[in-house]
Amino acid sequence: TDPVYTVYVDTNVMSGRTGEMKDDGMYEGLTYLKCNSDNDFVPELPSEPVDIIYLCYPNNPTGTTLTKDQLKVFVDYAKENNALILFDAAYVAFINEDDVPHSIYEIEGAKEVAIEFKSFSKTAGFTGTRCAYTVVPKELMGYDSKGNEVEINPLWNRRQTTKFNGVSYPVQKAAEAVYSDEGKKQIGEIIEYYMENAKIIRKSLTDLGLDVYGGVSSPYIWVKTPNDMDSWAFFDLLLNEANVIGTPGSGFGPSGEGYLRLTAFNTLENTKEAMDRISKLEF
Ligand SMILES: *Cc1c(COP(=O)(O)O)cnc(C)c1O
Repeated sequence: TDPVYTVYVDTNVMSGRTGEMKDDGMYEGLTYLKCNSDNDFVPELPSEPVDIIYLCYPNNPTGTTLTKDQLKVFVDYAKENNALILFDAAYVAFINEDDVPHSIYEIEGAKEVAIEFKSFSKTAGFTGTRCAYTVVPKELMGYDSKGNEVEINPLWNRRQTTKFNGVSYPVQKAAEAVYSDEGKKQIGEIIEYYMENAKIIRKSLTDLGLDVYGGVSSPYIWVKTPNDMDSWAFFDLLLNEANVIGTPGSGFGPSGEGYLRLTAFNTLENTKEAMDRISKLEF
């Protein structure tokens, strides 16, 4: 999808799996699925054959979600086209809407086509401690250049046992605590705290007449820049006039141009202060 969590692009570029970057900022060898206010941030299916589809929902950077029916369209496509879906579920703990799936495996048939990433980074504040797990179903098949089926799970096991030395024991114990009653309670409280910030950001910016997306089932608020400013101009304005920092949308890909990402990961006091300062600006 475009915009995208940049790691999906950059890791492939660094591994030499794309071609050169073109004048429009897109890489050869990648298929970009535009997500913007015109399509309500719901990507259309690729119009050319693809091997691997990266999906992240709730989305970083746009904060938007897909319903079960919308996600099923991709699972069905992957089955019909022998494609593999890499589903990044880093933000499922923030879901507040009923028809938004918490795992791609809620969709029938997804075990045959999807790998799911489960990071503790955003659920439980593990960004520095490094812990996650990956679901690679036994049913999942890849296809070699001759179209033969290949089981992915043993390949992944081979990769992990050779290249990955494991998560340190103290961090594993901390991850275990995430599932304790006390851990679940604390995580629930802090996520609710951040989502209150998200609500305040959404309301303040909406009251200012800005178009905002996300922030309902996600800590990210994706703001359309006022007066067709480009992402960096709006970033500079907020930085210089309000001393508030966001992330320019164009950094997440060509379709992010004209947007800016704000996050709810801060204190309530700072969030209110930032919104007060932005509210005093003239656009
Ligand atoms: C933060 C984030 C992650 C987490 O990555 P880790 O390497 O587990 O810290 C994964 N995907 C997205 C979209 C993120 O924003």
